Amino acid sequence: MSSILKKIYLDYAATTPIDPEVKKAMEPYLEDKFGNPSSTHFLGQEARVAVDKVREKVADFLNCNFVEIYFTSGATEANNLAIKGVVPNTRGSIPCVITSRIEHKSVLKPIETLEKAGLIDAAYLPIDKNGAVNMGNLKNEIKEDTVLISVMYVNNETGVIQPVEEIGKIIKEWKAENKSKLGIQYPLFHIDAVQAVGYLPLNVRDLGCDLLSVSSHKIYGPKGIGALYVKEGTPISPLIEGGGQELGLRAGTENVAGIVGFGKAVELIRFLISNKIPDTKYQIQNTLQLRDYFEENLLKKIKNISVNGGNAPRAPHISNILFKGVEAEILLVVLDDAGIMVSSGSACQAKAIEPSHVLLAMGLSQKEAMSSIRFSFGKFTTKEEIDKILEILPKMIEKLRK
Ligand code: PMP
Repeated sequence: MSSILKKIYLDYAATTPIDPEVKKAMEPYLEDKFGNPSSTHFLGQEARVAVDKVREKVADFLNCNFVEIYFTSGATEANNLAIKGVVPNTRGSIPCVITSRIEHKSVLKPIETLEKAGLIDAAYLPIDKNGAVNMGNLKNEIKEDTVLISVMYVNNETGVIQPVEEIGKIIKEWKAENKSKLGIQYPLFHIDAVQAVGYLPLNVRDLGCDLLSVSSHKIYGPKGIGALYVKEGTPISPLIEGGGQELGLRAGTENVAGIVGFGKAVELIRFLISNKIPDTKYQIQNTLQLRDYFEENLLKKIKNISVNGGNAPRAPHISNILFKGVEAEILLVVLDDAGIMVSSGSACQAKAIEPSHVLLAMGLSQKEAMSSIRFSFGKFTTKEEIDKILEILPKMIEKLRK
């Protein structure tokens, strides 16, 4: 790893470093193997084979068919496509989209835009105080004209696991008992699975979804590449039109090196999940142990702190801590000065000083939300790094509270 990691990086939920093996796999495609997959000559076909091999790999990972994987520029685009791409295919009255207030902005914004344009009505599932979507009333919320239900798998700010499998089952039951005005496929179910990859089962058939978004740079792959799973037969229209790549759903010359890197990252994650890598440093269990060690000791050492979402089942890599009486923005700067890189809420909002919409939706006050920091861990996180933070942080908090 480069020297930047001598600093302590605890912002893996924002992005991860590229794994050296991913970089190695990408290199030939940044050099000699530069062909355009649409070209019919040797170089083009070499690139085509590389892209389709990754498509196969991602499909296998998600337990779907090769033709159900569409590469995008990342999960933001995949989420936009999953939402804006399905609405124009419904006719008649204004369709309804059901989501939650803790979704990533790349889900919330397109829904807001469609609603403002009068193209959909949006409904929001309630969030409990632990940060989980309460789907108790979902069956009654689904209407004959519900086009889409979009709920994330793991929240990117708290790590709280959302009941997506149960939601999939409820939708299936609704379809068996009711008739949608829009057609037998509806309502469609979309899962933003970005923060679940590598930590939770990702079998699209078991999850019962029609659409699922993933991103490469959260799993030690390059930025600017991701994918949308679209169940065969799902009515969806492209947002980007042109040369007809990706079966016409996402035009534009493929990001071949990015796709190859993404493929390698998926391959490495599969090894990690199946614990085929003997080095314990590379095991998921390690992330969970480190996070628990961090939280237990932090709670012992600092008074008046709590773990946001701490009572809910969580993915092992995220810990969102409320430091009462401390301004998170100042703590971020002080930590950064000490070489510790963390985040206050989602990175996309990090520049704007506004309370996290996720924490507010969970019922935290503005002040509490502005006093919360997200620590996120990954496969390169070490116990030594955690010990260093456990040593530094109590002193910092004491100073800031004075
Ligand atoms: N959804 C979630 C839950 C995320 O955490 C992120 C990344 N912050 C995204 C979507 C957007 O992914 P990308 O960076 O690939 O556009």
